Formats: sequence, structure tokens, C-alpha cells
Amino acid sequence: MINSWVYIESEGSSIEDVSLEIIGRLNELKNDIDLKITGFYLGTKPGDLPRIAISYGVDHFIFLKSDLFSFYDSQTFVNGISDLVRERNPDIMLFGATYQGRDFAGRLAARLKTGLAANAISLNIDKKGLLYTGVPGYGGRFIAEIVNMKARPQISTVRQGIFKKMERDESRSGEIEIVDVELKGFNQKLKLLERKKLDIKDITKSERVVIIGNGAGNNLKPIEEFAKLIGADIGVTRPVADRGLAPRDIQVGSTGVSLNSKIAIIFGSSGSNHFVSGIERCKFVISVDIDKNSNIFNYSDYCVVADMFKLLPFLIKRMGGDL
Ligand SMILES: Cc1cc2nc3c(=O)[nH]c(=O)nc-3n(C[C@H](O)[C@H](O)[C@H](O)COP(=O)(O)OP(=O)(O)OC[C@H]3O[C@@H](n4cnc5c(N)ncnc54)[C@H](O)[C@@H]3O)c2cc1C
Repeated sequence: MINSWVYIESEGSSIEDVSLEIIGRLNELKNDIDLKITGFYLGTKPGDLPRIAISYGVDHFIFLKSDLFSFYDSQTFVNGISDLVRERNPDIMLFGATYQGRDFAGRLAARLKTGLAANAISLNIDKKGLLYTGVPGYGGRFIAEIVNMKARPQISTVRQGIFKKMERDESRSGEIEIVDVELKGFNQKLKLLERKKLDIKDITKSERVVIIGNGAGNNLKPIEEFAKLIGADIGVTRPVADRGLAPRDIQVGSTGVSLNSKIAIIFGSSGSNHFVSGIERCKFVISVDIDKNSNIFNYSDYCVVADMFKLLPFLIKRMGGDL
């Protein structure tokens, strides 16, 4: 039997979609291989989480319990789980490629002296338990297949929005195991003073997204106004996030998020490989660029050659907006 462990990332009693998507993919693979799917979570009280994870397709849930797990901190979590991983020796450990998943998986892989395939967009497992991950390289120009032949466990982070989660089914059954963790001699360095939830939309689920590229300079207002008028959420390219004009959470591309929208409208992006890997699953793409040779037009269904600062006031006025 091949043992796969999935990190169940959760806030409150809801599980991050990416954890459920990984579980969905592993369940597909179960048709061909003898695979056990274990979800693991570090926290203070199990609540409904184990039942929810089982209803989405895990066979076994390990709840690692300690008062020190009241908030996420990579040092505490890695110390909290390393011994159990060494003892149980899972073949595979998968994490969502979220901020937390990347942080946790990277530190754990270093602690266990094993490899890590980052940001996988495909997952396959052969009958011997070898994990094959597809990882985009050079901004998505090719997909590298990564296999960790020797070190165990095989660890990978998996990109959000690639796989399908299963329908929730309350009648699914699974084993729930609670492991009390004693972190003897461990000195937790981080103290939680305040918890603040940022009001940032998850644009991977948005139907319409307007993307602000570097061509907008520091003048985002007309594009934001236009987005409001058409009921779209805002995404940005990396230079815009780099300049601190928008949160990193809405950066689109290989080191940002991947969109799944019905429509994406892009203003002022040159269409670098690192950016376009984030829009390849959008159904319909419209781009506006002043340069008729901009590479973004190679990835667009409608190409508008125009100065956005001349076009936008016209569009906004036509739609009854105000600038
Ligand atoms: C490891 C790595 C990871 C990266 N990850 C990402 C990522 O996740 N996301 C990302 O976006 N980038 C990423 N990048 C950066 C990426 O390579 C590009 O530098 C970036 O995407 C460029 O952003 P842009 O297209 O908005 O800007 P630019 O390349 O500067 O393009 C600006 C465009 O605006 C047009 N323009 C200028 N003025 C106007 C106007 N008035 N009206 C209309 N058009 C106008 C120009 O003609 C030009 O085409 C990454 C790079 C590296 C090395």
C-alpha cells in the first residue's frame, strides 16, 4: 500500500479548496494503484474537521494536538510533525502551494533532508509509489517532470485550481486518529498578539477579472473604475504588486495566482511567460496595449491597440461612470 499524506489547511471549520483538490486527484489515482489517503492537521481541538475531510475523500485523518498549535508557525509545526513522519514514514506528502503550504513544506523537507517539487500542476503515482510531478519551468515554457528517486518522503506543493475536489458525501467513512504531541524542550519563539483577517478577494474563483499591468504606471484609478462598472475583480501583474500598489494575493502569474475566469481584460501588460501562465485557463481574454507588437496579443481573443488613458475615459463615460 502506498501511503500519501495531505496537509489539511484550514481556517476555522472550513478546509482550503486546494487541500480538497489534492484529495480529489489522489482519489482519481486510486483507481489504478493501492493508495491510502491520510489527511493531517495540527491544532488544539479537532472539531468537525476530521469528518469534513473524510466526507471529501480522505481514508484516515491524523489530528496532531498541542496547545502550541493554536496558530500557524512553521518552526512549531515542523517540530510538531517531524517525529511522526519519521516514525510512520509516508511515501508522499502533499501541500497546497499557498503561503502557508509553501512555507511549511519547504521547512519540513529541509528538516527531513528530502526533496521538494514546488508548485506542481500535475500529479501521478506509479505502482511502486514513485510520485511524478509536473512543474512549470521558465515561466511556463515547459513542464519539467520531477521524480525523487531516493529520499523519502516525496514532498510536493500543488498549485490551486488545477484539480477537482470531490462532491462532499457525508456517508463516506474513515479512521480518525488523535495524536497528542509533546514538544519537549521546544521554545516557541513566535507569540500571537493579534489576528487580523485581510479583506482580499480570492480572484481564482472570480468570473470576471480586470488585470492592471505595468503600463498603467501609478494611475490605477481609471482601470479600477472600469472594473467596478463591469462588476469585475482586480488582478495585477508583478511590477504593480512589487511597487506596493496592490497586495501580492492578487498578482496573476507563475508566482501569483492562476485565474479560472470566464473573461479577463488586461490593460498594459507585455505578456511575459511568467504572467501568461496565470491566464491560460481564462475562457476569453481581451487585451489593451499601446504597442501593436506586444506579446500579450498572442494570448488574447480580442486585441485592442490603444492608449488606455485615452480609451478608458471614453469607455467609462459611455457606461455612465464617473472619473
Ligand atoms: C521568477 C519570476 C517570476 C515571475 N512571476 C511573475 C508573475 O507571477 N506575474 C507577473 O506578472 N510577472 C512575473 N514575473 C515578471 C515578468 O517576467 C514580467 O517582468 C512582468 O510580467 C511584466 O509585467 P507587465 O507586463 O505588467 O509590464 P511590462 O513588461 O512593463 O509591460 C507593460 C506594457 O504596457 C504597455 N503600455 C505602456 N503604456 C501603455 C498605455 N498608456 N496604454 C496601453 N498600454 C501601455 C507597454 O506597451 C507594455 O506592453 C516574474 C519574473 C520572474 C523572474
